[in-house]
Amino acid sequence: MSRHKLGIAAAAALLLALAWVWPEGERPPASATTATEPTASASPAPASEGDGEAGDTAEPEAPASSAAESDAPASDPATSSTPSPAPSDPPPPVAEPAANTYDGPLGTRNHTGDDRVALTFDDGPSPEWTPKVLDMLREQGVKATFCLIGAYAEAYPELVADIAREGHTLCNHSWFHEFDLGKQSEEEIRSNLQRTNDAITKAAPGAEVKYFRHAGGQWTDRAIAVAADMGMESLHWTVDPSDWDNRTTEAEIRDHVLDRSGPGAIVLLHDGASNQKDMCGALESIFAEFSRRGYTYTAL
Ligand SMILES: [Zn+2]
Repeated sequence: MSRHKLGIAAAAALLLALAWVWPEGERPPASATTATEPTASASPAPASEGDGEAGDTAEPEAPASSAAESDAPASDPATSSTPSPAPSDPPPPVAEPAANTYDGPLGTRNHTGDDRVALTFDDGPSPEWTPKVLDMLREQGVKATFCLIGAYAEAYPELVADIAREGHTLCNHSWFHEFDLGKQSEEEIRSNLQRTNDAITKAAPGAEVKYFRHAGGQWTDRAIAVAADMGMESLHWTVDPSDWDNRTTEAEIRDHVLDRSGPGAIVLLHDGASNQKDMCGALESIFAEFSRRGYTYTAL
């Protein structure tokens, strides 16, 4: 056999060997890189470790934001194979509190209905920030509303129980902060919201989930209708200081909230974003100024 033919034979043998080592069926299946919903067993990282709000991992289908629809994305509670919910664009200025209780997008609630103000905390529970927020609320004697992500409720049931035990209102913020939930089928929306409610009530038996808040405020009539059919009112907000964004300073959060909050305002804050130190600092100032103004609070 010539040297040339030996070379060809060796190459053929190598190809055969490769074919045996990497048979088609053992290649990473497409499903291995397909996003699946997180579960507690997927080792959800603390919400504060996510980078979903970094702005550079936007999902292509993330809807563009419109006025007052800048609710924060969730941090990624699972592995890197799980897509980070995308943030919406920076918010435009928020309107003054509405005189009508249901002047939010598509008739959602964006006013408490009386002179009391409401603090709402989204995207938790977070083992790092939720206990701090609960401590601050307890010190002030304030009841608030927590819009919980189902995957986190499943991962941190003790925090859900703490929220409920302390008398705060519970709100469904979808299973994994799906910005496109409202565009999914009625069955998918119902399944998502039910799974989230199940995680919440498993953690806090007997607790009522009174409200639904769509991720990013990306409301659709269908999502609102399904939530209503499940006994949940759709809750928007009046004031959104973008506290989930790490670039927003404590002073900016404080000034935005104080400048734009009047009687009846529903303030959107986050206990589930990556670094809420600035929010917590601003919250101290907000409590002080709201007290000076004579505001009282409602948990909705
Ligand atoms: Zn959110």
